[in-house]
Amino acid sequence: LAACATLWDLLDRRAALTPGAPVLIQAADDPADDRTLTFGGLRDRCERVAAGLYARGVRPGTVVAWQLPTRIETAVLSFALARLGAVQSPLIPYLREREVGFALRASKAEFFAVPGVWRGFDHTAMARRLGAPTVLTAYDELPEGDPGTLPPPPADGTAVRWIYWTSGTTSEPKGVLHTDRSLLAGGACLAHALGLSPRDVGSMAFPYAHIAGPDYTVMLLLCGFPAVLFERFALPDALDGYRRHGVTVAGGSTAFYTMFLTEQRKDPARPLIPTLRLLAGGGAPKPPELYHAVVRELGCQLTHGYGMTEVPMITMGSPDDTPEHLATTEGRPPAGMEIRVTDAAGAELPPGADGEIRLRGEAVCRGYLDAAATREAFDADGFLRTGDLGHVLDSGHLVLTGRAKDLIIRKGENISAKEIEDLLHGHPAVADAAVVGLPDPARGERVCAVVERAPGVPDLTLPQATAYLRGAGLSVHKLPEQLEVVDALPRNETLRKVLKYELRERYAD
Ligand code: ATP
Ligand code: MG
Repeated sequence: LAACATLWDLLDRRAALTPGAPVLIQAADDPADDRTLTFGGLRDRCERVAAGLYARGVRPGTVVAWQLPTRIETAVLSFALARLGAVQSPLIPYLREREVGFALRASKAEFFAVPGVWRGFDHTAMARRLGAPTVLTAYDELPEGDPGTLPPPPADGTAVRWIYWTSGTTSEPKGVLHTDRSLLAGGACLAHALGLSPRDVGSMAFPYAHIAGPDYTVMLLLCGFPAVLFERFALPDALDGYRRHGVTVAGGSTAFYTMFLTEQRKDPARPLIPTLRLLAGGGAPKPPELYHAVVRELGCQLTHGYGMTEVPMITMGSPDDTPEHLATTEGRPPAGMEIRVTDAAGAELPPGADGEIRLRGEAVCRGYLDAAATREAFDADGFLRTGDLGHVLDSGHLVLTGRAKDLIIRKGENISAKEIEDLLHGHPAVADAAVVGLPDPARGERVCAVVERAPGVPDLTLPQATAYLRGAGLSVHKLPEQLEVVDALPRNETLRKVLKYELRERYAD
């Protein structure tokens, strides 16, 4: 990787090495419609599309936004833009007018690629309503041209070429500026931790437009194995695709682990995906109880990692880690990722002490579209303030304890929502749990637990919950004073992360 300056450089080298090996496999509803693209095929198709885009006026530095589902052609378009040295801004297909309009204006996009009508929604019409600049309706119109007409590929991997949007969990989404090098570094972290080989078959159970898309693809290019893509990912439908293509390592977020478990429990004796040996994911908190359930019931390993739009891969668990580390930590950072744990004022804390996690290294973004936000986010030493809380063990493993914004302060005592959530996960009536602090005149905040009910079990009550949590060793001052039981927690569409601000608004009164 050290020799690869840009993403295109990496694809070019991999295509020269194993041109005929598969890299992307599109699993369709009907197996007869499955499609496969090889490393060599990806490279060649990207050059032709790059030439087509060039003829349409896309130049190095031109900003191109795209809002496309998880399809082989989306990867082709993305790498074609990387070949041209354009600046690309991927948008998740579920976003609508308000977010898309904001993103297009803020990124000053000159082109906008959309899927036409997708899942009943007319993206082209939305683009026109928004007065979007030149609209390209992929995929019918992915332009192609003669690669001989192309200027040389970009040489500098440190220029801003990517604008990704954060999930908007804590505030409005922020536009994050990345370079080819920062995305390469993120993907390399995955490759190092997981140590996969050309014999593996991966899968992407997340939108390709998520920052995990290029990250995962970099891993495929480095290690030389393919991944299965699902345009509409849903279990149990997708299981057939996993089985058909012999997936050995499934990628997804915490919510996907639960989805796999739910399926497995329908028929515990039959392996869900016989070839599966590793579930590798991240992006949201993972209760230790969930780790143990996956290993026990799915019969595969589980590695979990920590990342954010600003730093796609920060730490990742490795199959070589101990079960204890895999259950309770987010794994270790790769070489070149500096982690500093500080108090609120930014002073470095001794090893093992809990504080704010700050990061410096090649995988860290250049900043935000909004210059003021950039100034606020980086400290005087150039470390990014993540807003996440945690500590580093002697072994180098990172333990996350929550988000600064989710920390509950009740009568001046700090209470970690994650500690309570992890314990609640052990209760049979709890499918998932989110704990939030609500404004309280007497105590500053009070602790409210919102529980997603497990099927076929009577609802949990507040006295039962507090008795259970006390039995599990939770201090009395941390016990929830309010319990809400719901069918489904509010989640975002990307990684199915719980939207805590919605819960705070909903239950504040
Ligand atoms: P916004 O910044 O707009 O509020 P967001 O932070 O949720 O949204 P993302 O960049 O998608 O947007 O998410 C990154 C955050 O997700 C991290 O800062 C962290 O709080 C959380 N996260 C990521 N991985 C993990 C993990 N393994 N365990 C716990 N939390 C995680
Ligand atoms: Mg964030």
